[in-house]
Amino acid sequence: MCAPSVIEAALSGMNRRDALHFAAGVAAGAIACAAGSRPATAGDGAAGRPDRPSPKRVVAADHVADLTHTLSPAFPIWPGNAPIKVTNQKTFAKNGFYSNRWEIGEHHGTHLDAPAHCSAAGATAERVEPGTLVAPAAVLDLRERAGKDADAAVTLDELRAWEKAHGRLPKGCAVCLNSGWDAKAGDAPAFLGTDAAKALHFPGFSKAAAEFLLTERDVVGLLVDTLSIDVGATTDFPVHKLWLGAGRWCVECVANLGKVPPVGATVFVGAPKVEGASGGPTRVLAMWG
Ligand SMILES: [Zn+2]
Repeated sequence: MCAPSVIEAALSGMNRRDALHFAAGVAAGAIACAAGSRPATAGDGAAGRPDRPSPKRVVAADHVADLTHTLSPAFPIWPGNAPIKVTNQKTFAKNGFYSNRWEIGEHHGTHLDAPAHCSAAGATAERVEPGTLVAPAAVLDLRERAGKDADAAVTLDELRAWEKAHGRLPKGCAVCLNSGWDAKAGDAPAFLGTDAAKALHFPGFSKAAAEFLLTERDVVGLLVDTLSIDVGATTDFPVHKLWLGAGRWCVECVANLGKVPPVGATVFVGAPKVEGASGGPTRVLAMWG
């Protein structure tokens, strides 16, 4: 990896678009450090093959979407969780600098569920394999059905219909569920879908769909725009148990999936690296050409 000074020096001579391409290449490991880089020429590498980066590791970045909600005490949280609290610690007027103290649950806001959340032997957040946190995105649009049925769960047929329209799910992809629920994040009762019996109602994945993604396709993670990869009405969390139990991760409460194309984007999951964490607030970006 390049030292920051090398990256800054390289970026200083570029326009924004070129800089984004360069930064994406560095993030994906596709661009060699300036100190050791040189143009690839025929005859480089073993057996006379050109020593070029693999095309699959070059990430286009003309478009960047932030899939992260702004975290604040107003963000909807799971019933029973202690509320989010932000307390000012230092001010410019008194201290000459500004800082706050956060009290935030690991499953608040846009957040990672590490395998350890539902699996005693599963990896905690700091041990999630970094290579899985940069992945091709496959975005599933469930908005029409979810708009009529808050309990809508992605079916196997819907996954097959997506593949018919867009091709087989890319190898090592992250499957992103766009139910349109991100628009409700400013209204906690609507986001949770709490009924008179205090049951929750919001969309998620069905167990059959998760089983298919786990066993029939190569999927590193799931992203949902609701509070859970299981539907809100579940009482036994079968998708959590299956998916995290198999060592996969998920990110819940993502935003802006409506801006991301069904195929062709790459997601960057800025998972927290806190020792022993079951997950944690996460910055998620999508980039595409
Ligand atoms: Zn969670």
